Amino acid sequence: MDAVVYKGEREVAVEAVEEPQIEHPNDVVIDITTTCICGSDLHMYEGRTAAEPGIVFGHENMGIVEEVGEAVSGLEVGDRVVAPFNVACGFCENCENGYTGFCTNVNPGFAGGAYGYVAMGPYQGGQAEKLRIPYADFNALKLPDGREHEDSFSLLADIFPTGWHGTELANLESGDSVAIYGAGPVGLMAAYSAKLKGAAEIYVVDRVPSRLALAEEHCDATPINFEEGDPVEQIKEIHGGGVDKGVDAVGYQAIDPDKEADSAYDPARENPAVVINNLIRTVRPTGELGIPGLYVPDDPGAPDEMAAQGRLGIDFGLLFEKGQALGTGQCNVKEYNRKLRDMIIEGRADPSWVVSHRVDLEDAPEMYEKFDNREEGVTKVLLEP
Ligand code: NAD
Ligand code: ZN
Repeated sequence: MDAVVYKGEREVAVEAVEEPQIEHPNDVVIDITTTCICGSDLHMYEGRTAAEPGIVFGHENMGIVEEVGEAVSGLEVGDRVVAPFNVACGFCENCENGYTGFCTNVNPGFAGGAYGYVAMGPYQGGQAEKLRIPYADFNALKLPDGREHEDSFSLLADIFPTGWHGTELANLESGDSVAIYGAGPVGLMAAYSAKLKGAAEIYVVDRVPSRLALAEEHCDATPINFEEGDPVEQIKEIHGGGVDKGVDAVGYQAIDPDKEADSAYDPARENPAVVINNLIRTVRPTGELGIPGLYVPDDPGAPDEMAAQGRLGIDFGLLFEKGQALGTGQCNVKEYNRKLRDMIIEGRADPSWVVSHRVDLEDAPEMYEKFDNREEGVTKVLLEP
C-alpha cells in the first residue's frame, strides 16, 4: 500500500510499504478515508528530532473497519471510526483516571503512545491506505455511517480535542478573557473552544493574516499580529491589566541562526520560550496558563541544537511573582472526543471551517512544504488515500 514516508530533513515521499496486519486479537485494521497533517508532524519533518528516515507519519486518522481481531467485541467490519492520536491500553492507572495520553502500557519507559511518532511506540502512522489500531475497543470511536461531517469528525483524532484541552488546562470558564498564542489549527480550535465555552473576550496572536482572519470570523476573536509590535502590549492596550487565562498553541519553533530576523519583532529567533514568557506577561496575577504546544525534553546524548530544545529560558520568577498556575502535556483525546462528536452531530459545533485543503495522498510532499512554510491560506490539510 502507499504511505507517507519520512526521508530526512524537510522531505517526505509517498512510497509502497507493507500493509498492516492484525497482530493481536484486540486489534482492528481500518481502511483510511481521511488522515490529517499536523503541526506536530513538522517537529519531525524539520529534522530536529530523533525520528529515523523510513517511518510512516500520521496520527490523525479515520476510516472504515476492514478486519477485526477475534477478541474485539464492540466493532464490526464496515464500522466508521476515528482513532484518538493517543494509543492507550484503557486499563493502566493513568488510563483509568482519564490520562490516556500517559498510558504506561503501550510504550514502556516513555509517557504515552501515538501513531507514526518518534519515541511514542512501535505504531505505524496512518498517512497511508490502512492502519492497525491496537486495543481497538478502547481506541476507536464509532461514528454515524456515511460520509456526513467527514471533515469535522477527522478533527476529533487530535486538534479539536487538543484545542479544547488547551482551554481545560487553563481552567477556562464562561465569562473569562483569554489570550491564545498561535493561530495554527490547534490555536484556532482553542479559540473556537473558548467561544463554545462562553469566553467573554478572546485574543489570538499570530503573524499569518489568513489564520488571524479565521480566528476573527469563526471565533469572534480579536486578532493580534505580532509583526506589528509586542503582542503583550497590543493586548494590554485593548484590555488593560492582564487577561484571566492564556493558551500556548505554538510550542517549540526552530531557531535558525543563519536566518535574518524577518520582522522588527521576532524574539523567537533568540529564545524559544518567547511564547511562554509572553503568556506569563499577558495573563493577570493568579491567572492560569494552558500549554498544549509541544516542547521536547533535554537529551544529553543528542546534538546540541536538539538537546537545547528542552532547555528554555522561561521567566519562572515572573510566574512566581504573579502566582500563576500552568498545565501542559499531550491531550487525553478520549476525555473529550465523545462529547465533541455529539456536539457535531447535534449541530452545536462545526469545526470544519479550519480545513483549508482536502487532497490526494500523493500530494502530501507538496502540502507538507506549504504547511511547514505557514503559507497564506494553508491551514489544516486533510489527505485522502
Ligand atoms: P502550527 O505549528 O502551524 O501552529 C503554530 C502557529 O504559531 C503558526 O500559525 C505560527 O505562525 C504561530 N507562531 C509562531 N511563532 C509565534 C509567536 N512567537 N507568537 C505567536 N504565534 C506564533 O500548527 P498546529 O497544528 O496548530 O500546532 C501547534 C502546536 O501544537 C505544535 O507545537 C504541535 O506540536 C502542538 N500539538 C500538541 C498536541 C498535544 O496533544 N499537546 C496535539 C497537537 C499539536
Ligand atoms: Zn496532531
